[in-house]
Amino acid sequence: MIKVGFVGWRGMVGSVLMQRMVEESDFALFEPVFFSTSQVGKNGPEILQQKTLLHDAYSTHDLFEMDMILSCQGGTFTEDIYPKLKKMGWHGHWIDAASTLRMTDDAVIVLDPINQKTIDEAYNRGNKTWVGGNCTVSLMLLAIHGLIKENLIQWVSSMTYQAASGAGAQNMRELIIQMGELNSSVKTELADPQSDILKVDQKILSTMHSSSFSTKNFSVPLAGNLIPWIDQDLNDGRSKEEWKGQVESNKILNGSYDPINVDGLCVRIGAMRSHSQALTIKLNKRLNIEEINELIDSGNQWVNLIPNSREYSIKKLSPAAVSGKLDIAVGRVRMLNLEDNIISAFTVGDQLLWGAAEPLRRILRILINKAQSS
Ligand code: NAP
Repeated sequence: MIKVGFVGWRGMVGSVLMQRMVEESDFALFEPVFFSTSQVGKNGPEILQQKTLLHDAYSTHDLFEMDMILSCQGGTFTEDIYPKLKKMGWHGHWIDAASTLRMTDDAVIVLDPINQKTIDEAYNRGNKTWVGGNCTVSLMLLAIHGLIKENLIQWVSSMTYQAASGAGAQNMRELIIQMGELNSSVKTELADPQSDILKVDQKILSTMHSSSFSTKNFSVPLAGNLIPWIDQDLNDGRSKEEWKGQVESNKILNGSYDPINVDGLCVRIGAMRSHSQALTIKLNKRLNIEEINELIDSGNQWVNLIPNSREYSIKKLSPAAVSGKLDIAVGRVRMLNLEDNIISAFTVGDQLLWGAAEPLRRILRILINKAQSS
């Protein structure tokens, strides 16, 4: 039976991946082996009523025994272990959530509803490295898949509103801790409906600025605030997250669709889970709004077109409405009063599902199917 090693299975992406694999009965298809960087020898997850033990994720000897390795452990782990295994002559399939290998020639960025053809061709050429795309990139491409299929997009500007979960489990905890600290600092004032709102506001601000406020992971307050920078500073005015928009989108589209120009600003907000993006799209053809809606709606089976009304938008087009679902909600579609053929759209998707775990789960299944049928 094919042996698949899982590293990083208890992190944010890993936990959602485990949940989805149980839902889809994926574990029946191979023998899973669980690794940890910090809990070696302890119990791993119970799979098909079987107890598992955690192996050492730094043991290249143990990893070498795997036919496939799926890592959601992060870039530092990949940088350390992947080259060592390759040097040892390991020929298994490496599936990864981290960005480290995405833009290397060896790797295919996997988003099979869009680039199944590229995946098949790469597999036939003997490709062994498969990496999930950046969360906002995958979610955006799926949201506008219907327009991409018709090669209708000249450029797209994506202004993101990214949730705390995009930064990992510890950051999610920190956001809630920050919320609690803010709440505690004004408990007395909140209990009194007559209390002065400006005093509440001042106390909240001074709590946020105090040196004891919990900011170990985000470095700055996120609760009651936002952070207009995600990932490294590329020192050319862009963040690395923004750079990924253009390069990763086009690596995914390459071979299947025309290239598109993508740029915008990426912002962290105090949502728990699910990333939102305000898209401005320049179309290269005049279409009416009904045609545009129809195309977006028919992009793929996960797009959920939300009517552009206040009622629908506030109820159905938010992280709270979408989190935990595979749906890619797309709404606020209208012609903008800027120049011809420019439209807006607002899209929300669970970045832990389609933005991270789901493409990895699906490529694992694709590779297992291919291996079993060859
Ligand atoms: P994460 O939640 O920080 O988990 C990574 C590892 O941290 C875990 O596997 C675990 O490893 C360790 N860990 C330490 N304390 C933990 C705790 N309290 N709870 C759970 N795990 C803890 O990272 P992630 O967000 O899943 O991201 C993993 C990789 O996926 C990164 O490269 C990231 O860039 C990429 N990615 C993330 C997202 C996203 O939305 N979060 C989207 C796309 C790609 P041990 O068990 O070995 O200690």
